[in-house]
Amino acid sequence: MAERLAGKAVADAMKEELSKKVAGLKAKGITPTLGIVRVGARPDDLFYEGGAKKTCESIGMAYEVFEYSADIDQAAFEKALTDVGANKKINGILMFAPLPKHLDERKIRSLIPVEKDVDCMTLGSAAKVFADDLTGFPPCTPTACMDMLKFYNIPLKGKKAVVLGRSLVVGKPVAILLLREHATVTICHSRTENLAAVCADADVLIAAVGKAKMVKANFVKPGQTVIDVGINADPDNPGKYVGDVDYAEVEPIVSRISPVPGGVGSVTTVVLCKQTIMACEMQNK
Ligand code: NAP
Repeated sequence: MAERLAGKAVADAMKEELSKKVAGLKAKGITPTLGIVRVGARPDDLFYEGGAKKTCESIGMAYEVFEYSADIDQAAFEKALTDVGANKKINGILMFAPLPKHLDERKIRSLIPVEKDVDCMTLGSAAKVFADDLTGFPPCTPTACMDMLKFYNIPLKGKKAVVLGRSLVVGKPVAILLLREHATVTICHSRTENLAAVCADADVLIAAVGKAKMVKANFVKPGQTVIDVGINADPDNPGKYVGDVDYAEVEPIVSRISPVPGGVGSVTTVVLCKQTIMACEMQNK
């Protein structure tokens, strides 16, 4: 039976540490504050926003929500976001994407100051992540994967890590973070040949593919650690969601596996707070 890599234990330990940091900053008259920028009211955004607010509250951090109507025009939104960026109270910015189609998202993302870009929305942050400049924040989900691996003491140095997925938000940045820890990294995608065999050769497999239960028994081997990033509608249980890994098939084979729900997703909003606190510390140096 595989060890279950629960996200809650990781999140709880991180929250305890972050609470102390926040208390220390507050003692100096500084309250780390997250700015949440939302256009419209998509249910997924509202759900994530609710989690982010709850995490902020649980560690004593502040947040402010900047909400705009779904039909806001480009010029008005550019002005609004520039104001949030310049707001001295706000240390980190979470902007929900994708934005409505009539907005030029690429241009708008670039208006977030890099030092407040705690979820890697800008090319400036992506460049820093790529260059191992630690003043640039990776997206929260890849950092959450790394925090899970660290918490559960999974060795990475010299090990084979396979990342399934090459998106800008998960696959590519998690590959960079694994490289920082001296793993030997392979990135797979929809054109990869012998996909299952490549994945089965990994010591650590990160699945970020967005396909319900795609990773089957032939993708894994005994001794492996599997981190499942996927959040997909469960085709067999309407209203529920599942990961990219077929947990029932894979769990009996591998050594460690993160569940969905209850895995990486539980750590993501804590990372958002962690990176906002780091931004706050850098801004107040
Ligand atoms: P995405 O942008 O759709 O990227 C999916 C990647 O998987 C692409 O690189 C794609 O390859 C690859 N892929 C798709 N089908 C494949 C196949 N049959 N074989 C091999 N590779 C395949 O997705 P994403 O934004 O990275 O998200 C991935 C998953 O993570 C989703 O389930 C999402 O909901 C979840 N997610 C979770 C969190 C969290 O906090 N836990 C946060 C963000 C995302 P190509 O590049 O060749 O098309």
